[in-house]
Amino acid sequence: AAMREERVKRTKTVCTYCGVGCSFDVWTGGKGGDRHILKVEPGEGAANNISTCVKGKFGWDYVNSEDRLRKPLIRERSAEGDRFREASWDEALTLMAQRLTQIKAEHGPDAIGLISSSKCTNEESYLMQKLARAVVGTNNIDNCSRYCQSPATQGLFRTVGYGGDSGSISDIAQSGLVMIVGSNTAEAHPVLATRVKRAHKLHGQKLIVADLREHEMARRADIFFRPSPGTDIVWLSALSRWMFDNGHAKTEFLSQWVNGVEEYRKSLEPFTMEYAAKICKVPLETLEKIAHEVAATESMCILWAMGVTQHCGGSDTSTAISNLLLVTGNYMRPGTGAYPLRGHNNVQGASDFGSMPAYFPGYDKIADDEARERYEQGWGVKIPTAKGLDNHEMVDAIYEGRLKAMYLIGEDMLNADANANYVGGGFERLEFFVVQDIFFSETCRYADIVLPASPSLEKEGTFTSTERRFQRLYEVMEPLGESRPDWRIIQEVANRLGAKWNYSHPADVMHESAGLAPMFAGVTYDRLAGYKTLQWPVAVDGTDSPLLYTKEFHMQDGRAKLYPMEWIAPCETEGDEYDLHLNNGRLLEHFHEGNMTYRVPGIHAETPECFVEVSPELAKEQSLVTGQWVDLGSRYGQLRMQVLVTDRVSGKQLYLPLNSKEHPVNLLTGSYTDRATHTPAYKETPVKMTVLPLK
Ligand code: SF4
Repeated sequence: AAMREERVKRTKTVCTYCGVGCSFDVWTGGKGGDRHILKVEPGEGAANNISTCVKGKFGWDYVNSEDRLRKPLIRERSAEGDRFREASWDEALTLMAQRLTQIKAEHGPDAIGLISSSKCTNEESYLMQKLARAVVGTNNIDNCSRYCQSPATQGLFRTVGYGGDSGSISDIAQSGLVMIVGSNTAEAHPVLATRVKRAHKLHGQKLIVADLREHEMARRADIFFRPSPGTDIVWLSALSRWMFDNGHAKTEFLSQWVNGVEEYRKSLEPFTMEYAAKICKVPLETLEKIAHEVAATESMCILWAMGVTQHCGGSDTSTAISNLLLVTGNYMRPGTGAYPLRGHNNVQGASDFGSMPAYFPGYDKIADDEARERYEQGWGVKIPTAKGLDNHEMVDAIYEGRLKAMYLIGEDMLNADANANYVGGGFERLEFFVVQDIFFSETCRYADIVLPASPSLEKEGTFTSTERRFQRLYEVMEPLGESRPDWRIIQEVANRLGAKWNYSHPADVMHESAGLAPMFAGVTYDRLAGYKTLQWPVAVDGTDSPLLYTKEFHMQDGRAKLYPMEWIAPCETEGDEYDLHLNNGRLLEHFHEGNMTYRVPGIHAETPECFVEVSPELAKEQSLVTGQWVDLGSRYGQLRMQVLVTDRVSGKQLYLPLNSKEHPVNLLTGSYTDRATHTPAYKETPVKMTVLPLK
């Protein structure tokens, strides 16, 4: 046994999949060598303790996949067709610097767009936004929270101030009532869902679920209901009105802590329970039952995800959630609060560290003179004052001829953004495109240069989980081939563009960031050693914030704001030709576009096929059986799929996992976006279905 122990190296890391932030020791070594993963052992993680899900436990073999990029690639154009050839780092980076310099000279810095990655570390997102602002000279920097959680952040900015969960996972576990809206928590955030399941089953926690689909949490719920797509704002606002009308609004809390009460109450006038029942197509008795449960509980948390945010009214519905929590006094106490569940492992951190077109790290505004001068002094440069382009605007700007070049890291944007045909057409028009990734993704097909990056097991740094928790990851194994950690590549790009950066370790980057962003003032690598964690904001003395609002809200005068409500119907609805509603989301075993999990043989073997879920009613009407092929068509594209008949969906609802590379759902989704943030309305896709004959 001693010999075996000697051959094994144990390294602490943080899960690279969802935002729950499970951490564990990875065992490597033995006869298989330094890159051989023997086991993943949870034990001391603040979020997960002894738990993991299938992805965290078994989803790591992609790091040794044959498909990993090992050397830089450069596109060679020819009449017979383009091809990629391997190149040295020096050749690839020299070409990149030449082309970016030339485009900047010809068209100005705003002709270049940069996109950081929610898979990368905080330090890497910090460097990407610094590269954009301090070296290229543009605020055209964004990250993939634009595709998921920006509306949730917007709703929280409007009402309580900080764009993060208002408490910790332990608050969710001790709450009297958990309401889940538009989140398939058991599959998308499995370890967090386990805490809710346990509290519900063993400790009498009430569970209310609103969703189009009867997933596991819906089946477990005390009350499950299916509001019509895009109408959540209506029943949420009706609950708020009911609280005021029936004497259950927390008037003392409101007068002490909340502005805008009267204007908000006025805006609630149309939102009666009867109106909500009609618009949402939910029985009146169900809504009244929910209202009584909410009024009766001592403490409530509301969890939400893409089922809320990926609509034209995603920000407004997120705001309605926060409004309801304020009306019922469910902030500022343990067991209460707003919990937008972050999707990627570091989607919280990518935004926190300033990879956004209007914000510096710590959500200081670009437009704020004091903040801009602080960064100008720290970096020794002038920073442009105008807000930059977000992901969505970048694609439009390519078509308009304003954006000529992009540098994109760790993001398969072609598959991740809505309306893939439109996005691909944009990439084709770019004069110069650099993609940095661990695999040759679909997006790489459009690149001029592809740079090989290292995944989380091959680098050091920090991630920030959904509960605003900083955690360190340590290098489990060395970078494969000639791949490099993203922070090293970004630094090299900056220096070839004229900067003089000299970071020897991600700790140097965190040190700089902590000195510039008050929200991270006390974050140090020592305070995060091993399994130690910190939840932002972190004061200089290292005091952190498990509960976000204790003394005041993060608004100018310390008081929250009730934000007036208005319901606007979904941008695209079902009509005569496109008569079915297509919903999409995750499967437990796979993650997003599947670039990682489809390269884990054990996981892929469990769910090799992609399918579209069809309700038993619709299957009967169309004489469909499981396994039969159908053509799905939207106004934007086509897909041929096999059918899975299941009562998880009802009526004319269809559901398509978003994880398939062969059947990318974004060939069907359109270009409508959330009104406030430009997050695509992925969940508002009318389609038609043509049944193919059985073979
Ligand atoms: Fe990883 Fe999320 Fe699973 Fe935890 S719940 S192991 S963070 S995928």
